[in-house]
Amino acid sequence: MESWIEHMPKGMMLKSDGFASNLYDPESVYTLKRFCADHGIRYGDTGVPVSLDTFTSYGLAFRDRMVPELEDKLVVALDRAPEGFVLRLDSGETVRARRVVLAIGITHFKYTPENLAHLPEKFVTHSFQHHHLEPLRGRDVTVLGGGASAIDLAGLLQQAGSKVRLVARASSLKFHTTPDGKPRPLWQQIRHPQSGLGPGLRSRFFANAPMIFHYLPERWRVKVVRTSLGPSAGWPSKAKFVGKVEQLLGYSVQRAEIQEGKVRLSLRSADGSERELLTDHVIAGTGYKVDLTRLKFLSGDLRSRIRLVQGSPALSSSFECSVPGLYFAGVAAANSFGPVMRFAFGAGFAAERLTKAMAKSPVRDRISVSASTMVEMTKEGDPTSSSSIETETGIMKRENGCDSCWLRWRPHDSCRGGSHLPDHCLRI
Ligand SMILES: Cc1cc2nc3c(=O)[nH]c(=O)nc-3n(C[C@H](O)[C@H](O)[C@H](O)COP(=O)(O)OP(=O)(O)OC[C@H]3O[C@@H](n4cnc5c(N)ncnc54)[C@H](O)[C@@H]3O)c2cc1C
Repeated sequence: MESWIEHMPKGMMLKSDGFASNLYDPESVYTLKRFCADHGIRYGDTGVPVSLDTFTSYGLAFRDRMVPELEDKLVVALDRAPEGFVLRLDSGETVRARRVVLAIGITHFKYTPENLAHLPEKFVTHSFQHHHLEPLRGRDVTVLGGGASAIDLAGLLQQAGSKVRLVARASSLKFHTTPDGKPRPLWQQIRHPQSGLGPGLRSRFFANAPMIFHYLPERWRVKVVRTSLGPSAGWPSKAKFVGKVEQLLGYSVQRAEIQEGKVRLSLRSADGSERELLTDHVIAGTGYKVDLTRLKFLSGDLRSRIRLVQGSPALSSSFECSVPGLYFAGVAAANSFGPVMRFAFGAGFAAERLTKAMAKSPVRDRISVSASTMVEMTKEGDPTSSSSIETETGIMKRENGCDSCWLRWRPHDSCRGGSHLPDHCLRI
């Protein structure tokens, strides 16, 4: 949950509907709806915005309930080893694994345009760096971008007491339609069917058919992922933004330099006209670009063996990259399985495909090393002999674990009799 807890602006509302904001568990036992009912929080499958606060509380409760054995550790190095992979954790431990799933989300991929990236952080940051908004109170802030991140942040900063303007290349901004509470007419339901990515036939296809998407020609997939579901903000953002935040639309940044303790931005519009502005701080709400060269924990050797398509790993139908045993989920899988991989709604499909791939192994022992990094250890021979992790300081034994359910490091009586299917061990 790190991205949500530390890198999204306080006060944000999710863009996805309630029904599309579940964390995935195969039996849907702990949905957002269930969490809200338990905690007296207003919920609707559609039409009731989900606050960041609610979603992060749900995420933490989900973790405690569904994956209490999860270890919050960072992988600082990942390399090939004779039997698979070797991972070094920030705790100093070394873990060997036959298979590794990297579900590292957006955390390494924030994108800042080149003509801004050279300026120091005191003057230019990315929207990923702003959870607390108080430090910018009373300051003149320019947010760049025309998508949900930029619009949300601009509206929330304005509310928190900054003087904000938004600069975007687009000549108009898009917001999702505000629901009017009335049932949709039948023809509209057919023409614009509801989906986990919002209403519309294309969204429905992306949300429900990632496997078909995968079999389409690579060039087409990459183009579709780049161009579809273009920038638009959720309807709840509108009230905080429209009429409150100054908008400079149709402009792109040509140059940025520091002048007398401020940033001077040179802007150019589509018709060629130019203007300049001085601002205390610039925030790039310019999104994320998957680029595996950003993964400093990957060894150079491993990285060089991963076939890339425009920075993203090319994945098989089971999410495996060109290095056998190495899998990617989340946004890094979008070029292979479509835009749904960028959203929580895509996690179910990814988890099921990955589970099938893992289940092919005759003997399994899986451990989790972080919120979203999944490691599978596979050993030959007696399964019960592999219930341990090798560390640099020795062998860490699994104690009191359920023998028949050794996907989990928890006592037998709390794991429902060891009847877990393999998919219970996948976390996205
Ligand atoms: C402003 C904004 C609003 C969004 N709104 C929505 C929305 O309304 N609905 C929606 O479905 N999606 C939304 N998203 C997209 C959202 O990011 C994804 O849906 C979701 O976070 C994907 O989950 P994930 O587990 O793949 O990645 P993340 O949530 O990014 O999780 C990745 C995890 O990997 C961990 N990690 C990274 N590197 C390492 C390492 N080396 N070792 C160990 N752990 C590591 C991180 O700490 C993190 O916990 C939004 C994104 C942004 C930026």
